[in-house]
Amino acid sequence: MKMLGSIQTDQSIRSDVFFDNRLLSNLPNWIQANIKPNKIIVLSHPEIFDFHGSDLLKSLEVIGCEVFPILVSEGEVSKSMSTTQDIISSMLDNQLERHDCLIAFGGGVIGDLGGFVASIYLRGIRFIQVPTSLLAQVDASIGGKTGINDATGKNLIGTFWQPTATWISPQFLSTLNHRERLNGLAEIIKYGVITDPTIFNLIESNIDVIQSLDFTLNDTIWHSLIQSSCLAKLKIVNQDVTEKGVRAILNFGHTIAHGIESAGSYSAIKHGEAVAVGMIAAAYIAKESSILSNQSFMRLSECIENVGFVPHVNGIQLENIVLGMKNDKKNIHGKFQFVLPTKIGHVTINNEISIALLKKAIQYVSC
Ligand code: NAD
Repeated sequence: MKMLGSIQTDQSIRSDVFFDNRLLSNLPNWIQANIKPNKIIVLSHPEIFDFHGSDLLKSLEVIGCEVFPILVSEGEVSKSMSTTQDIISSMLDNQLERHDCLIAFGGGVIGDLGGFVASIYLRGIRFIQVPTSLLAQVDASIGGKTGINDATGKNLIGTFWQPTATWISPQFLSTLNHRERLNGLAEIIKYGVITDPTIFNLIESNIDVIQSLDFTLNDTIWHSLIQSSCLAKLKIVNQDVTEKGVRAILNFGHTIAHGIESAGSYSAIKHGEAVAVGMIAAAYIAKESSILSNQSFMRLSECIENVGFVPHVNGIQLENIVLGMKNDKKNIHGKFQFVLPTKIGHVTINNEISIALLKKAIQYVSC
């Protein structure tokens, strides 16, 4: 077990992040020592539970407490008020008390939903993130943002509620399909551009390993990328836990990506795929604004393409992308907020990009 770091909030709440290849042996002892629950809810999807659920349940037996799995449907559809209500009803039926806990065992959907439920049940209970997708391991499970969707848009309802701990194990990634692996890689590249050029360099100099998305091919590189990404996120969140300032740089590539996802009704294109295109578009804006060199722009877009992303969107109307961007909760006084790279490893925030330049950038990544 390796402790990567913690998030420390103003309210003296600490959220530890562990990277552990032997998670199933160590997590139960940690829960017993730190939470001492009488009951545990394990929230997951049937598909993930089929792969890894019995191993997790068996490992939790050593605690000697009651464990109740609650399985919800896959996809954004579960990040809803009705699913939240169903989970809470089930927790009330099973008489979970305030000192009990919830384990969010899945990708970002389960993490966001489980965190939201934990934050409102009995005014808040402890929860543990056990992320099983690459995207959730390097991003969604760290930082304490919880959320569900509304018909108007994504993640419009939510709380800041830190998990007592996040436990990351690469062992779960073996069953993740190729598209979902690539999905998570977009966020890893993001950290390389916004704050840690060593991540970017490691990807660039090992393109064959990265392109294969085979986590067993060179696990040292993959483990290093996952851990460095978690460290980058911890560093940024710790400077601004409730996103009043610098945490916004984590949205690099996301401003246009949200428009693309919205225009594709959140199903045509995956989040990571949209972020990959969004990063190229943001870098294009930076280049056209003369704050990013052409060489760095080319490096960034070639890296994104070389690892396996399609570097453009197909068949989505420009106007629909701009329309989708208008519902982004990160807009300030109706203006889009752009995170623009100035070099690999550094970004700046700009709220004054003209619609004309935005459209030019979207055209650049459309075909
Ligand atoms: P997801 O949770 O839908 O998981 C993607 C797919 O992978 C699902 O089909 C899931 O069942 C499957 N899966 C997950 N782990 C698996 C495994 N080990 N083996 C086999 N299949 C597995 O999506 P995601 O990409 O993990 O996360 C996206 C969600 O995360 C979005 O809802 C997004 O809003 C949210 N998010 C939140 C934050 C945050 O800070 N809270 C940050 C980024 C994204």
